Amino acid sequence: MGKAPAEKIIKKFCKIKHMPKIDYQKLEKKLKYERKNAWEEMGDKGKKNAMQFSEGYKNFLNSAKVERETVKQGIEIARKAGFKNITEVKVLKAGDKIYALNRDQNILFGVIGKDLTRDGFSLLMSHIDNPRLDLKVNPLYEDSGLAYFKTHYYGGIKKYQWPTIPLSLHGVVMLHSGKKIEITIGEKDDDPIFMITDLLPHLGKDQLKKTLEEGVTAEELNIVIGSIPVADKKIKEKIKLAILEILNKEYGLTEGDFVSSELHAVTASKARDLGFDRSLIAAFGHDDRVCAYSSLLALLDSQNKARVQLCFWVDREEIGSEGNTSAQSVWIESIIAEILEKTGQPADLKNIYQVMEKSQAISADVTAGFDSDYKEVHDARNAAYIGCGVALEKHTGYRGKYSTSEASPEYMQKLRGIFDAQKIIWQTGGLGKVDQGGGGTIAMYLAKRNLDVVDMGVGVLNMHAPMEIVSKADVYQSYRAYRAFFEQI
Ligand code: MN
Ligand code: MN
Repeated sequence: MGKAPAEKIIKKFCKIKHMPKIDYQKLEKKLKYERKNAWEEMGDKGKKNAMQFSEGYKNFLNSAKVERETVKQGIEIARKAGFKNITEVKVLKAGDKIYALNRDQNILFGVIGKDLTRDGFSLLMSHIDNPRLDLKVNPLYEDSGLAYFKTHYYGGIKKYQWPTIPLSLHGVVMLHSGKKIEITIGEKDDDPIFMITDLLPHLGKDQLKKTLEEGVTAEELNIVIGSIPVADKKIKEKIKLAILEILNKEYGLTEGDFVSSELHAVTASKARDLGFDRSLIAAFGHDDRVCAYSSLLALLDSQNKARVQLCFWVDREEIGSEGNTSAQSVWIESIIAEILEKTGQPADLKNIYQVMEKSQAISADVTAGFDSDYKEVHDARNAAYIGCGVALEKHTGYRGKYSTSEASPEYMQKLRGIFDAQKIIWQTGGLGKVDQGGGGTIAMYLAKRNLDVVDMGVGVLNMHAPMEIVSKADVYQSYRAYRAFFEQI
């Protein structure tokens, strides 16, 4: 006869009771994915490095507010590190450092590796345009005692954020004669600034009832630029003429020359440390100059140059990557062909595509930082947090994963392995709750060319606002991650 059921149960119970005790704290550490605070993890040396790295970044930001200025700054940094314009070089060999320029608005920096055809390349791509106010093609007018410039916003802005802040003007004008004039005004302490007006609250009764979207319209984004009339009663638009007189004296410009100009109004402010502990940076245009800067420095500092390493800065991302200087431009193929040719390899389209197939890329772009004032729009488990390291984003897009590419598990595994081995502080990131909206990056245009690609960049607060915020810890970790990508992939 077998044992009675009750006896069996008691015996089983006793067995469980005497099982070795599990250390659940240890188990939790082993099994759970935990986001880490970079400041806590970095140690004193890491903190010091992050602070130091950010000084260079702030200087860069202050002299690179629009694409053309950013390209110029990039060239300056690269030339100091021994990079040459690819047009100066006939034959390329391993270790050569080059840059290539597309219409002064789109640039590639590269270090030549051993065998491009055999190995493919490692690519960091970021964008150097950002939301701002462009001057309209015919911008100058006078109304009720003031002269103005009419603007046309570029990229996704919240229009109500732009009145009453100091603005500067940046850009180029091609005069009728063919002479190119470069304009930067409003950045130096003794420069004049410009401003869009807003209604005083005393008369804002109707305006304040409007939604934030409708409160300020595009046609109200007009910039005040002067108020002294010329001394001639017979002239109809005396203030407008006085402004034209100044512009002509200063730059040789006539009103017709605006047709062949590209002038942008941006926030007239330097990059500033934010917070008592100086841990954050407030500045115009972190998106995406932060990743542009840290990826270029990663290229400069990378120790392993066996494979071709490329750092690409593209334009027009904020308006959908349309245009000849954007990530959709075939200039990418053209420049790969040139590198192939100058390294003595076949530069036909078949080889270009096969090289791309073997290549890995990071779309180095910023992502939304979790904002505790607007918790309702974020998915708290999948958001990037300020100060918790560089954000690795498997995909961006909106709603049902539209307008994006998605990195493969194989590629994600490779990257997390590299970052963990080097103790780089990284986190996952995502653009808010699924039904809330979203946005895309240039990743999908690289995916289209059959490269492995994933998004990775810095979390930003107030993205696309006149002043955006990043953490110095995240900026530094992005540099470390990009460098590890170049050195290890
Ligand atoms: Mn961006
Ligand atoms: Mn953007």
